Order: sequence, then structure tokens, then C-alpha cells
Amino acid sequence: MKEFDGAVWEGRPLKRVGAHVQGDNKDTVGVCLVGNEHFSCNQIDAGAELAAQLCRRFGLKSDDVVGHREYWLKRGETPLKTCPNFNDMDLFRKVVAGFMVNSEATDGNN
Ligand SMILES: [Zn+2]
Repeated sequence: MKEFDGAVWEGRPLKRVGAHVQGDNKDTVGVCLVGNEHFSCNQIDAGAELAAQLCRRFGLKSDDVVGHREYWLKRGETPLKTCPNFNDMDLFRKVVAGFMVNSEATDGNN
């Protein structure tokens, strides 16, 4: 969970199956921003950074990050959720990609 100041709180531990996308919880991780429609820059940044960390941990790309409502759209179904309630998930994925590049640069591989 992400608070307004960008603080990160762990909800259900990663080793436990989540409960955010019925039928596909075993293969997904949910990241939630506290609030409904108005999110702080700190929240967006912290959410994108966490998504980048999860992508790296599980060998995923930033394009694998989907907004909650997009999950149903990708399956050709009517979304059961409206979140993340911001319009530009493509921009969010670009921010995630930026965090992935930055974390690679600071991994000290060279
Ligand atoms: Zn949601």
C-alpha cells in the first residue's frame, strides 16, 4: 500500500496469494495507492518505483504493468474496477521503465 507521502506499507506478504484479480491472483502482485482519484507525486513515484522493483524481481517488463481496470480489458471483459483512476497508464509504465533503467545503472554491474 502507498500512503500520500510515498511511504510503502506491505499488505499481504508476497509469498501469499493476493485477492485482486479473481482467477489470476496466483500470477500477479497488486500495488495499491491510498486514495481514490487524487494522488500525490510522491505516491505515483513510489508506486512506479515499487512496480519497477517487482518487475526486476520477477523478470518482467514495464509493459507488463497493468492498471487494475486494464486487467479485465486485456481479457476482453467489462472491468470490475475503475482504478487506478488516472487516465494515462502508458505514462505510468514509462515512469516504471525509467526506474528500471535507473536501478540497472546503480546495480554496479561494471
Ligand atoms: Zn484496484
